[in-house]
Amino acid sequence: MKRFTLLCLIFPLLLLAACGSKSIAEVDITERLKDDPTITWGVKVDTSLFGLYNIKTSEIEGFDIDIAKALTEEITGDAANAKFVEVTSKTRIPLLKNGNIDAIIATMTISEERKKQVDFSDVYFDAGQALLVPGNSSIQSVSDLSSDTTVLAVKGSTSAANIRKHAPDTHVLELENYSEAFTALQSGQGDAMTTDNAILLGIIANNPGYRLAGGNFTDEPYGIAINKDQNKFVETINSAFKTIKENGVYDEIYNKWIPEMEE
Ligand code: GLU
Repeated sequence: MKRFTLLCLIFPLLLLAACGSKSIAEVDITERLKDDPTITWGVKVDTSLFGLYNIKTSEIEGFDIDIAKALTEEITGDAANAKFVEVTSKTRIPLLKNGNIDAIIATMTISEERKKQVDFSDVYFDAGQALLVPGNSSIQSVSDLSSDTTVLAVKGSTSAANIRKHAPDTHVLELENYSEAFTALQSGQGDAMTTDNAILLGIIANNPGYRLAGGNFTDEPYGIAINKDQNKFVETINSAFKTIKENGVYDEIYNKWIPEMEE
């Protein structure tokens, strides 16, 4: 009887310890939101139109940010529950895997390769990869890239991998983030910079001496990335997304940020 009483005491303690040992990334987010409604989003902070830090307001602003706020409001009742953590193309998956963030909303293309590591929401934006060049460049499209040209791309992006397929002879120089890549283009370290058309249009808006060279040469459907084994949270995000598409909030945000884009 004594042993039984002891077991009754020890067993719940062991169970508690087992629960306590769950890593942050393993905790079911939809369950956690019942106690703590904060949703931590990984976002870009150097990408005009999508996620850009505004020094004047000390706020991060852009399409991805507003979509994250709208989804947070839909899911938790208050957009102020959205918290933002800076990611780059290279750091976003590791930060998600470590449980530093609950979701990535950062110009991220849904790809089969990435699906091995993370799950994705439904597509929330359609982009395509393009080239940015100085206004006076002789490069008119991706077919003008050769062994004599250098293209600047960002580490961890699909753009860096795609350009090697579409222009196998060109040199590719990979930088840490988009502000570094554009600075390298400005200082002549490369002949062109490559990433999604929407990101490049954001750069052109602030730097009128640059232009796109040719149209899109890939499809880049953006999704929100969520850790594996968070199926309920993926469903929650998708149903919140459906609501903001239906009630006009998505269109409002789209029209606020996204300029006219050619296919
Ligand atoms: N959409 C592409 C990607 O997910 C390029 C933009 C980015 O680097 O975030 O890799």
